[in-house]
Amino acid sequence: MKIKFIDLSRQYLSLKPQIIEAIDNVLCSGHYILGPKLSSIENQIASLCHTKFAVGLGNGSDAISFSLKAIGIQPGDEVITCPNSFIATAWAIAAVGATPVFVDALENFNIDPSKIEEKITSKTKAIIPIHLTGRIAEMETITTLAKKYNLKVIEDAAQAIGAKRNNQPAGSWGDVSCFSMHPLKNLHAYGDAGFAVTNNQQVYETLISLRNHGFNPKGEVDKWGFNSRLDELQAAILAIKLPYLEKWNNRCREIARQYSAGLSDTSLILPIDQPNEEAIYHRYIVQTQQRDALRDFLSDEGIETRINYPVPIHLQPIGITLGYKPGCFPVVERHAKTILSLPLYPELTDKEVNYVIKKIREFKF
Ligand SMILES: *Cc1c(COP(=O)(O)O)cnc(C)c1O
Repeated sequence: MKIKFIDLSRQYLSLKPQIIEAIDNVLCSGHYILGPKLSSIENQIASLCHTKFAVGLGNGSDAISFSLKAIGIQPGDEVITCPNSFIATAWAIAAVGATPVFVDALENFNIDPSKIEEKITSKTKAIIPIHLTGRIAEMETITTLAKKYNLKVIEDAAQAIGAKRNNQPAGSWGDVSCFSMHPLKNLHAYGDAGFAVTNNQQVYETLISLRNHGFNPKGEVDKWGFNSRLDELQAAILAIKLPYLEKWNNRCREIARQYSAGLSDTSLILPIDQPNEEAIYHRYIVQTQQRDALRDFLSDEGIETRINYPVPIHLQPIGITLGYKPGCFPVVERHAKTILSLPLYPELTDKEVNYVIKKIREFKF
């Protein structure tokens, strides 16, 4: 049996007639950017996130950097985040001229709130918690800290659309929250796409302007902007898929439960759901000291795995230039050596999940 880490064509084939029809409708309409499909999906994303506004953007990275700009982050400011993320989180901070300031992670891979306070200086203006693997960070503690020090909060919810914590959805906690619909995310476009959501009208209007060259509603340009619009084709595709999101997320959770049940008596460290969490399992990450040997063994058995992420951001060459070195963040650095992401997507069959479990159990730990 061959099991791909991800197989995007399976989902496409399950929706093919609807997708082809939606694409044809957009192409026939002659309206390809900033049209009715965009407005409609923005309303649906805002409603999913319990926010007043959503802004469709070219990708999730721009969503974060535009959000930082829109809340007033300026060159010289500091923004606190976690080095256990995709590079784009830190890039977005650097892109507005601010400095990323890192804080170590908890065992669940999210930012450790108890280590944030010691990093706050007079230059700190915002915190970006990342909901890594589809599990929401400890937002109650983080938003309380942010209030105390008058900081803004931007959720990097790129991996967490539809996730909940204490029954509150990803996107509903921050001053602005950002999503990616990159092909590898739980809800994905056929190309790049992203959203920022907010309750703040002024932030919303700034985002609308930033994505379209800085034009304001009067058609004047009062600041430099960008070209980063979610196009009508991707908006129409996402509109077909959004109604399935809950079903897909539930299936991801079910597969995670199957992995956890099947591997509970091995020496692997497995993800744990707290009772107040509804993680969507963008990734199912196990940990073992024998990570590389296990990965090679599974590869020989036809099972693809990945490491998310092999090099923490502070140890990338660009991170080193910020003054970081090995040993700065012991938890994140330990995870980088032991983590392994197993295949997990809604279209994975029970037979395939059982095959992965069976093969892992054959490995000599
Ligand atoms: C994917 C991702 C991003 C960037 O999103 P793009 O749409 O690829 O630009 C940012 N942060 C995290 C945590 C991500 O996983």
